[in-house]
Amino acid sequence: MDLEQFKKTVSRKKKGLTQFLKKLDDIVPEEMEALVAAADATVWQDTDCTKCANCCKTMTPTYTKADVKRISTHMRMTPKAFTERWLYKDEKGDWMNKTLPCQFLVDNMCSIYEVRPADCAEFPHHNKQPFDAYNDTFTQNLNYCPATFTLVERLKKIVEREYEW
Ligand code: SF4
Ligand code: SF4
Repeated sequence: MDLEQFKKTVSRKKKGLTQFLKKLDDIVPEEMEALVAAADATVWQDTDCTKCANCCKTMTPTYTKADVKRISTHMRMTPKAFTERWLYKDEKGDWMNKTLPCQFLVDNMCSIYEVRPADCAEFPHHNKQPFDAYNDTFTQNLNYCPATFTLVERLKKIVEREYEW
């Protein structure tokens, strides 16, 4: 995955994709769920997260209490020692990574994969329902996640071809 090339592609195409997601706030094709599922399946045929890890390099997950308990236990630390070592509370009171890339990213792989935060396990959230309720998330994430970028680009093509927009 050439992330420098990806950044250039994003800056070239972001405006059109953002406008598409914004329009989805108002007009949602009836078969949206099926369209997203079909497009998403093609995205993962062409995406290898182990060659990317850009989410772990550029974004922090939000850690729930359960995440902190599970991961700190896995690391044989107390939750307090764990949060003091790695996390800070943001303005909303959520636990976030102090540093980027994520401290658990080793050789482009998650070193705590089995116990990683739920937010990481669910990322990039393509199967959230209804899809259009997460347009703001996808608008933000298409800057960082090649899979989300490709999904939105393919959806845009399909919707503009199949529907009168
Ligand atoms: S915990 Fe693992 S999956 Fe989550 S950001 Fe860190 S390295 Fe990536
Ligand atoms: S989820 Fe997206 S940003 Fe993260 S590794 Fe996979 S393609 Fe890259």
